[in-house]
Amino acid sequence: MKKLITTALCIFGLTSSDAQEFIRKYQDRANLVSIDRITANLKSFEKLGVKTTGSPENDNALQWIREQYLSYGYTADQISEDPFSIGKKKSNNLIITKKGTVNPDQHIIICGHFDSINGPGVNDNGSGTSIILEAARILKDVPTDYSIKFIHFSGEEQGLYGSRHYANEVAYTGKQRNIEIKMVLNLDQVGGKKGMFNDTVFCDEDQDGTSKNNEASTRATLELMKCTKLYSPLKAEIDPAEHSDYISFEKKGEVITGFFEYIRSDLPHTRDDTFANTDVRYVYNIGKATLGALQHFAGASDK
Ligand SMILES: [Zn+2]
Repeated sequence: MKKLITTALCIFGLTSSDAQEFIRKYQDRANLVSIDRITANLKSFEKLGVKTTGSPENDNALQWIREQYLSYGYTADQISEDPFSIGKKKSNNLIITKKGTVNPDQHIIICGHFDSINGPGVNDNGSGTSIILEAARILKDVPTDYSIKFIHFSGEEQGLYGSRHYANEVAYTGKQRNIEIKMVLNLDQVGGKKGMFNDTVFCDEDQDGTSKNNEASTRATLELMKCTKLYSPLKAEIDPAEHSDYISFEKKGEVITGFFEYIRSDLPHTRDDTFANTDVRYVYNIGKATLGALQHFAGASDK
């Protein structure tokens, strides 16, 4: 869920990301994103129904996501849940941790919400969920310098409840930081508008809120754009980060960036946010961009 008004800014003339080089092995792994798997994930996500936070469908979706990780070979001790409530409704975030080899205490968080309202939420946010799953599948046995946390949040549509709980109660206790977070990469509503020529993705930059982390977000977002162009056929534009789960981390001073669809569908939060109305090839292409970026940020092996 994001605000309708976004600002596209030109990025020409900026040099800070020029040092990023194309890495053949990163492209090879980005090419392992499977359009068949993305399709299957989106269809399964649709079948799980309307995943309103606290509903049985919401719980079933979490169990389905967990099963995917187990099928990729992740073990139960890598998977944890973070329970939270909204009034009398209870729900859970799902966290999967893959340990880094050089800086295991520092984490790259890649996240997206799986709850939906009014409809099955195939675009918002089955799209992001499917890509995170593909990233986890492909990188399962790839050594990375930093640890990666794949996080599936619930309670987003009611007002970022899940991510706020995780940021405030798990990653932090008051002002004490329990988990070292290098950066947060959020994926929300990357399904595109069916029937349109979806050849561009928004890269979300922190332009507001806590100001001390803005500059680092700008750098991360430029790197995200660079990775998008290096490892996917998509073009990238900047828009302000807002109204999605990364904001819960932004408020704690963390460095955030993320993807959001460029041509905005008006179907999220309606019963018509379905597989038939989602641009699967666009999700697939953003999947490739995500694989490139996640390997870059996490310092994946180039061998
Ligand atoms: Zn969303």
